Amino acid sequence: MHKVVHIRPVDDVISHEEAADCLCGPAGEGVYAAATTQAVGLIYRHHALQPCREWEASADA
Ligand SMILES: [Zn+2]
Repeated sequence: MHKVVHIRPVDDVISHEEAADCLCGPAGEGVYAAATTQAVGLIYRHHALQPCREWEASADA
C-alpha cells in the first residue's frame, strides 16, 4: 500500500481537500525507494491561491 502525503497551505482563501481532485489541482509526485524503481509513496503538492505562510503536511493512514 502506498503512502499518500498532502502538502497544503493552511491560511489560503479556499480550504484544500486532502484529495487528488482538490480545487487547486495539486501536482502528484512519486516517491521511489533508492534501491529499486518501485514507487513507495505519492506526494501531492497543493497550489496556494495567495501567498501563504502556513503549510502543513498530512498523510493518509
Ligand atoms: Zn489544494
